[in-house]
Amino acid sequence: VPSRRRLVVANWKMNMNLASTRKFVKDLVVTKEQCTVVICPPYPLIYPLNELVNENKSSITIGAQNLHRQDKGAFTGEVSADLLKELDCEFAIIGHSEVRASGETDEVINQKVKKALATGIDPIICVGETMEQREQAQTNEVVTGQLLQALTDVSDLSRVVLAYEPIWAIGTGLSATPDQAQEVHQQIRATLLKTFGQVAEQIPILYGGSVNQDNAASLAEMGEIDGALVGGASLDGTGFSTIVHAF
Ligand code: PEP
Repeated sequence: VPSRRRLVVANWKMNMNLASTRKFVKDLVVTKEQCTVVICPPYPLIYPLNELVNENKSSITIGAQNLHRQDKGAFTGEVSADLLKELDCEFAIIGHSEVRASGETDEVINQKVKKALATGIDPIICVGETMEQREQAQTNEVVTGQLLQALTDVSDLSRVVLAYEPIWAIGTGLSATPDQAQEVHQQIRATLLKTFGQVAEQIPILYGGSVNQDNAASLAEMGEIDGALVGGASLDGTGFSTIVHAF
């Protein structure tokens, strides 16, 4: 297995506040250095989290849950990649199924990926099928389509991170089994190699969907699972530490 960077990413979604963020940073114990720990808080917590990380000399890396495809302007409620970069965000989640569900298209996702890369932010691109699509044996087709559209005309694949997040597994407690995840990750790797050549070996593929303290180790054993994107189980620093250590 070639060495790829390993990442465990916390997606806090619309949870946490100043007090719980302080507690999280205190509780998180990260000792393994081969794994990058990325915390993606709600936008207003990015600045205070960064201060806490610096004060505590924490090895947390900060990410954003989204960004806008345009540079700046009349986009009420949106946040630019430039501002996120100024606030020390090194990663951004792009194409999360919860954002796709509110109408984000593959074309917009592709624009956001290019904006992130141009700004020096590494995109964590989410792909995944619904239960209905899985039952109709469309998983590979759906995931491959999302992937290739997100990566259209992307020149620097070395900084791209992928997250396979089956929609039926997100927030449901029903994680994909290690074998189910490994199978899709292998298909993704094959598609990447066929489309982009050897550089594809460098792209980490994270699994996301009800990862928790109990299932993290068995997922982490799979050769094609390079890390995790964690929602619900990422809100508690102690519990999240256990997941990080599994990878
Ligand atoms: C997610 O939203 O990216 C996610 C994986 O959520 P959960 O871990 O809660 O399923």
